[in-house]
Amino acid sequence: MKKTILNKQQIIDLARENRYKVNTSTRFISRCIDGRYVNDDELPALAFPGADAGDLALLYATAANYGFEVDYEKALTTLIEIVGGEKNMRMHTDTHREGNGAALGCGHIKQMRLDPEAYHLTSDQIRLLDTQLEKVKKDGGVEVVLEGEHMEGAVVIVKGPYSLKTRLYMETPTGKREVEIFVLHQTLADERHRAWVTKLIEKKAIELYADLDEEYVYQALSDIAENHLMETAKRIAGGLPMYSVTFKNDGMFEVESIGNV
Ligand SMILES: [Zn+2]
Repeated sequence: MKKTILNKQQIIDLARENRYKVNTSTRFISRCIDGRYVNDDELPALAFPGADAGDLALLYATAANYGFEVDYEKALTTLIEIVGGEKNMRMHTDTHREGNGAALGCGHIKQMRLDPEAYHLTSDQIRLLDTQLEKVKKDGGVEVVLEGEHMEGAVVIVKGPYSLKTRLYMETPTGKREVEIFVLHQTLADERHRAWVTKLIEKKAIELYADLDEEYVYQALSDIAENHLMETAKRIAGGLPMYSVTFKNDGMFEVESIGNV
């Protein structure tokens, strides 16, 4: 099957069909930016590269790049607290297999493994992350299995109190076809990062030097988050158009074209 590259009008049509209101009580439960999630009512509104695995990697990369110390065990326990317990931790793999039979897994985490330096990570940090993810799975965290090949035809940055499901059957110039989009929920990701940074500092999970404060850590995290998103987008979504979809409280929205990956 060939992927359908989506234009602005198609994103408007998709957003109208696929929007759903963020449930504030579960808003910190995450999914990956991956477009292969099945549309269902339990789909987490917060979409972020690599879901919770990606967020841990993000903190470790930020610490390494900005030169502050992180207590890895506390980093994990604070994230678990933010999402509301181990059962709310989310990561994913997929049904694809490489030649040697190994799972391909999450594209974001896979790219990180292939080129840690581009993500400001060390191999030691990735090994540690793997150990932590195994523990999270054993303790009740959920590894979602995504099926099928990547068919995403756009990268969509969502803002506001609604989110987007990723798949839709729609009319295209070559007939009715299923399309997919990569989704990042900027508003929820930012909100969760702020809450996490507050907790990281409160629980002394990170050690700050001199006059560095919460705002500094949040900005550093946001800076590396953008780096991680674009590194992965370049590798798995190269050339795709990017759009922002900004929702108002009543579900109305505006779509803007923001160039290409
Ligand atoms: Zn993923």
